[in-house]
Amino acid sequence: MKKEKLLVVGGGFGGVKAALELADDSRFDITLLSDQTDFRYYPTLYRTATGGSRANSSITLRALFEGKSITLVQGTAETIDRKLKTITTTDGSVLPYETLILALGVVTNYFGIPGLPEYSYSIKSQVEVARLKTHLHQQLIEGKSPDLNYVIIGAGPTGIELAGELPSYVRRIMRNHGIKHRAVHVDLIEASPRLLPRLPIDTSRMIRRRLKRLGVKLYTNSIVQGVTSDELTVSGKPIRSHTVIWTAGVTNNPFFVNNHFVIMGRGKVATDTYLQAEDNIFVIGDNANTPYSGLAQIALHDASFVAENLRRKASGKDMKTYWVKKPITVIPAGPKWAAVMWGKLRIYGWLGYVLREAADFVGFKDLEPWRQATEQWLTGFDRRDDCEVCAIAEASRF
Ligand SMILES: Cc1cc2nc3c(=O)[nH]c(=O)nc-3n(C[C@H](O)[C@H](O)[C@H](O)COP(=O)(O)OP(=O)(O)OC[C@H]3O[C@@H](n4cnc5c(N)ncnc54)[C@H](O)[C@@H]3O)c2cc1C
Repeated sequence: MKKEKLLVVGGGFGGVKAALELADDSRFDITLLSDQTDFRYYPTLYRTATGGSRANSSITLRALFEGKSITLVQGTAETIDRKLKTITTTDGSVLPYETLILALGVVTNYFGIPGLPEYSYSIKSQVEVARLKTHLHQQLIEGKSPDLNYVIIGAGPTGIELAGELPSYVRRIMRNHGIKHRAVHVDLIEASPRLLPRLPIDTSRMIRRRLKRLGVKLYTNSIVQGVTSDELTVSGKPIRSHTVIWTAGVTNNPFFVNNHFVIMGRGKVATDTYLQAEDNIFVIGDNANTPYSGLAQIALHDASFVAENLRRKASGKDMKTYWVKKPITVIPAGPKWAAVMWGKLRIYGWLGYVLREAADFVGFKDLEPWRQATEQWLTGFDRRDDCEVCAIAEASRF
């Protein structure tokens, strides 16, 4: 039987889920192209960035696909040839397809703010997380004192998650390295009039109160104009800092503009009701112009939806039309506290934290078998940092 050549580009939530869903179907010959060797579980990267284990937010693609008939290719997709039905990578490899799923995720956008690319930190990958942790350690160990201000730009979910954990992480590093206790100043800068501008105002207020209690100072209506090696300018005023963390801006993957896809609002790719940008070219997850794109749960939903339709097509059935899944929003803000928005229901505090833990388990289980998912979920409680001194000090406390 001739198999259908399915090429999946992107080894993130959407790409991995789509490949796994179709891996056991012998009608498909699946290749997954990714520019990374690892899958990044973004929702827990803030934890890794604040003293948690790297294993909690990273799994090798090889481990994820073990025993599955998926050919894994490492490379960066650069161009598409629609006539020949091929994808060419930056190193010149040419990958053929009959059906293509594009799930390339978003990239960081600095909005042209001077100094940001050079002087700011970020937590969008393990490399960026490691760079931030090394900086936090070096600065504390060499200066024997915390930075004057730790500044996080962007009061969206990532900025809030990080702001909630950073004060206690910096205090922990000081304690682990025997540095005299000093006050830690964390500032959260937001250009909009309130934090989480896209979410309900009551949630925004509750999280604001929570962050205040943790000692985080929130600056709304504040525009970052530039960053240098030792200060940043916010709405005309300088703030002294050697630790500026950018969580504010992302933009769609440049692959789509470069390859002349039809682009809609927010830079997302136009698709039909089957998530096809063009015949047999499906665009899913953060790349697609769907109402809630930008969330892992939506990328997983899109992947399952497209996989089901490909199975239907292979069986000679009509494809189903896309149905919009309303996401459940869970935002952690500091140790053992999270805000949950589930339709009209709101939960704040410890119960929110428990639900967030459960959501992470479901997230791992979506991609891994029970045993691996459980093991990975448990690494979330592991406080073993990359720093040996911190790791020994933390271990001796338990
Ligand atoms: C710090 C952070 C925290 C987040 N927290 C949450 C959360 O708590 N809950 C939630 O629902 N969502 C969260 N998100 C959003 C969520 O992670 C994304 O919506 C989700 O990852 C989108 O899945 P995707 O498959 O579209 O893209 P991704 O998961 O980003 O995967 C894209 C993959 O494609 C690869 N790639 C990119 N370009 C190329 C190329 N040219 N060739 C080959 N490969 C390429 C990338 O390296 C990556 O592996 C968070 C995001 C971040 C950054």
